[in-house]
Amino acid sequence: MLSSDFADLKGELKSMKESGADWIHWDVMDGHFVPNITFGAPVISKARKVSDQFFDVHLMIDEPEKYISDFIKAGSDSITIHIESTTKADEIFSELEKAGVKKGITLRPGTELSTILPYLETIDLVLVMTVEPGFGGQSFMKDQISKIDELVKIRTEKNLEFKIEVDGGITKDTAPMVRGADVLVAGSYVFKSDDYEKAIGELKNAKLKS
Ligand code: ZN
Repeated sequence: MLSSDFADLKGELKSMKESGADWIHWDVMDGHFVPNITFGAPVISKARKVSDQFFDVHLMIDEPEKYISDFIKAGSDSITIHIESTTKADEIFSELEKAGVKKGITLRPGTELSTILPYLETIDLVLVMTVEPGFGGQSFMKDQISKIDELVKIRTEKNLEFKIEVDGGITKDTAPMVRGADVLVAGSYVFKSDDYEKAIGELKNAKLKS
């Protein structure tokens, strides 16, 4: 939703559903962990009242443990935290587990995959960032594809079930490159198009062909 028209969030959410988006991805930025500020739990809570879709909340904020209960109460279906943003990942995941909210972990492009390996048996989702978190509209970083391939390998070897999600620079041209991913996040590609349904359809087709 980062690239959506915030003045018409209700209309944009309705259009997303009608255009075939499976999940709604919320990029929460605090001006500390990343340089920009977007929106917080109150906005998601209001949006929850006008949408029954799966809310996938990506927290790009320092010390997310302080705000997790707010984002749970706001109606998040899934909450993803950055490994670099907290020393309390275990506490956060147990709070999410108790609340019945899906647990996600992510990392900046420059962070080693080894930092999140201890959590793979606990979490439901790993988000691979293919741009530097903090801004919409950046170009896809091809060098991050190896992380996806490595995650697919680990998941198979250890017989785990987490989903792999990719966020950043996803278009119909980059979607086929992330063949191991289960979930594609797209912002600008959809919202800057004239036809949301066509753009979402192109991403789904590109993914199928990968
Ligand atoms: Zn995101």
